[in-house]
Amino acid sequence: MLFHGIMSNICIMITGFYLITKLTHEPLSPTLSVGKKVQLGITTGLLGYILMLSAVPAPISDQIILDFRHVPLIIISCYVGGLPALIACIIIAVARLQFGLSATAISVSLTYLMLGLILYFSDKYVSRVIKVRGIIFSIITMLCICINYLLFFSNDKIVALKFILIMTVSSTIALVIVFIFMKDLRQQTVQFHSYREQAEIDFLTGLKNKRIFTKKIEVLLQFSYDTTLLVIDVDKFKSINDRYGHDGGDAVLKQLATVMKTHCHNNQEPFRVGGEEFAVILTQMTPEQSYQMAEELRQAIEASEFILPDEQELKVTISIGISRSPIDGKTINELYRKADMALYRAKYQGRNQVVVYQQQDFEAESNSPVPLT
Ligand code: GH3
Ligand code: MG
Ligand code: MG
Repeated sequence: MLFHGIMSNICIMITGFYLITKLTHEPLSPTLSVGKKVQLGITTGLLGYILMLSAVPAPISDQIILDFRHVPLIIISCYVGGLPALIACIIIAVARLQFGLSATAISVSLTYLMLGLILYFSDKYVSRVIKVRGIIFSIITMLCICINYLLFFSNDKIVALKFILIMTVSSTIALVIVFIFMKDLRQQTVQFHSYREQAEIDFLTGLKNKRIFTKKIEVLLQFSYDTTLLVIDVDKFKSINDRYGHDGGDAVLKQLATVMKTHCHNNQEPFRVGGEEFAVILTQMTPEQSYQMAEELRQAIEASEFILPDEQELKVTISIGISRSPIDGKTINELYRKADMALYRAKYQGRNQVVVYQQQDFEAESNSPVPLT
């Protein structure tokens, strides 16, 4: 009976943590945002509540039941930290009162509130090594539960010691099994994230790649947002490669990406869409604001000193073509083609400039494209 009870509680915890990790969309770690930590606190608290409902009769006395609501608290403290543990403890403390407002219920609730505060405040003093955290948080948690039990419930010392022994052994077994599962789950989530990052991020510049650019712009166009596209091309980049080598060219591309990142604010993420071609998608901006933003970016690049691997300094310029949706097109192909035509004109007019696609200007020349020199 006890064995089955422990096993079914372990299954509940494994399923619970699997769902919790899936819901978080990120590997559990102390670097998660406050919002994600709050979400984790709530879901861990709910898991604790489900474990309370799945309590197992202890083979000591009919009145004593074992449950594992404290195990998720230890796990979440180890992997994420004190905030979700505190929130989960508050939920468990409140949920415990729902089973009747007796002296027992109040003392258990207060114990969990105190445990939450201890886990919260001790977090920053405990090593980041998971095994060390596991041991320390287990000791803290078990001590709180056992002290509460000894102080409030037990007149019979033998029964108390038996309970503490069974509780400690069964919790340790459950903890070890859930930790093994969590280690495996976390490794898989970390690997998945690293593969996804490799598929989305350009290795050289750290900017998001064309795949993500296409996805983002497709979503915007699908929902008919006013969207402005900036297609950016480095001027005479081939000659930089020819004079300073491929490594010199790469160093310039990296620094260009840095200038773009620092220059692009909210909703103005730059992408690397080709060799020395970049793109920026702008939303909720008037044509004047978009032009100004592009012009400021061009000037920022023009004013920057690019450092080559041999410490030489170099000046670099860019040309930018701009198109807008829905006026210039409602599909990514149309929009890109028009921004490219504007870029083509910027090159033709002498480079280092921003050109906005204007239907009337470009229609006349679309039948006889100008040669790019
Ligand atoms: P324009 O002003 O007309 O754009 O002239 P350009 O020389 O920049 O134009 P072109 O498209 O002929 O040259 C682009 C060059 O970019 C050619 C290619 O070797 C180089 N390139 C593409 N990807 C990379 C890269 O990842 N690293 C380096 N170093 N060079 C690259
Ligand atoms: Mg090019
Ligand atoms: Mg170029």
